[in-house]
Amino acid sequence: MTILYKSTRNKNNKVSASQAILQGLASDGGLYVPTEMPKLHLNFEELGSKSYQEVAKIILQAFLADFTAEEIQACVDGAYDQKFSDPVIAPVVKKGEDYFLELFHGPTFAFKDLALSILPYLMTTAAKKNQIENEIVILTATSGDTGKAAMAGFADVPGTRIIVFYPENGVSWIQEKQMVTQTGENTHVVAVKGNFDDAQTAVKQMFNNAELKSSLAANNQQFSSANSMNIGRLLPQIVYYVYTYAQLVQQEEIKNGDLINVSVPTGNFGNILAAYYAKQIGVPIDQLICASNTNNVLTDFFKTGEYNRQREFHLTSSPSMDILVSSNLERLIYHLTNDNPTQTKALMDALSIEGKYQITPEMMAKLTNFYAEFATEKEVDQSIAHLFKETHYTMDPHTAVAKNVADKFKAGNHSVNKMVVVSTASPYKFPRTVVESISGGKSESDDFSLVKQLETLTGIPLPKEVQELEMLPVLHQQVVEVSAMQTAVEAILKTK
Ligand SMILES: *Cc1c(COP(=O)(O)O)cnc(C)c1O
Repeated sequence: MTILYKSTRNKNNKVSASQAILQGLASDGGLYVPTEMPKLHLNFEELGSKSYQEVAKIILQAFLADFTAEEIQACVDGAYDQKFSDPVIAPVVKKGEDYFLELFHGPTFAFKDLALSILPYLMTTAAKKNQIENEIVILTATSGDTGKAAMAGFADVPGTRIIVFYPENGVSWIQEKQMVTQTGENTHVVAVKGNFDDAQTAVKQMFNNAELKSSLAANNQQFSSANSMNIGRLLPQIVYYVYTYAQLVQQEEIKNGDLINVSVPTGNFGNILAAYYAKQIGVPIDQLICASNTNNVLTDFFKTGEYNRQREFHLTSSPSMDILVSSNLERLIYHLTNDNPTQTKALMDALSIEGKYQITPEMMAKLTNFYAEFATEKEVDQSIAHLFKETHYTMDPHTAVAKNVADKFKAGNHSVNKMVVVSTASPYKFPRTVVESISGGKSESDDFSLVKQLETLTGIPLPKEVQELEMLPVLHQQVVEVSAMQTAVEAILKTK
């Protein structure tokens, strides 16, 4: 059977892989999921001798049924090249008793690069296959890292335009600088007076606005998404879980077949959902550890079965996880209902109307492989300081959330499995938290001095792209209210 992609909210909505990538979000408001999981019979001993690119080709070919082998090869080779400072692409580093899967060696220093360096290739290939002549307008809400990584991927890609919305006071200083200095004639960056959830909700509404869609069509344009709502973002993320397991076997850290646990710092639930899919296709993952910061809506969900977004929103030192409505949880919910779109839609409608929903005991019973906890701001600082003191390894605050929660899991559970902590960002994106944690006091310095202090403290070479940020001209200065986001999009698209 050929794998297609079906909406989580309407059983009649089934499309090919390329169409799912082009659309981003299903027109019924749902998200596309594979109609079945590919049966791959993964041989990790063999995969252990393969490069990241080779593993990526195998996994993506299995999911992207209507892409030819030549097309996949061109996409993979275009994406995973010298833009990554480490030729291994996703190295696994052992520190203490844990394994850190470093996903921050891409051009924008966060794990989003693993998917967003290939998405533009997948998207333009999909457009060609479907004879789309329209300009593809990528509409994106970012909690800090997606925006820059998506623009780095789509900048000056013919036939595309990208508009990024980020929360005005909700991202780190380096993250903001990275975005507002973005070059490329087809890139647009707008700050929003609101948080990430506000921006993501407004973007989803624009996707589902029929009038807006037809006015775009009249202008030979159509929307797509670079958020993890797009299945083209999620599938490339499965690759690094397969690759990591094969590497651990190859390096004789585990025996083929041994179970591992993975701790994932979670916001929109994309990265951990990719780990869940990796488990479905045969990667021996036991516990999927969902690590949150003080925006701990997912911790409560996994403990009680109730998802309740009505709570205080916190700005934390791990801003890319400052999210109360985790979009990709909808995909897990759908699988928990045995792929029932009616039940899924009812729960998602309850979330948008009442702000909460409760899953059934039968659904709860399927969550035994998930463990969820959160880390407070103080615990994040302590984890950074402690690991640095013990091993001289430097974690960014997001990775520290995952490490802290991994430690909580170990303290409360007896597990012999090796622990993989997913390292999602370079410490250079969050120099203030990292320097203050390691040196144990508040700093009066500005972020550029802090970046240099971080280099002195840790000895990790300061990337030239971070150093250059201080000098780069600011090219994007627009700030809008949430209610004016659509007007901003219309204005951008008219004047182009
Ligand atoms: C996006 C992001 C996360 C959260 O990942 P999700 O897939 O949204 O759950 C965690 N850490 C960093 C550094 C990120 O950029």
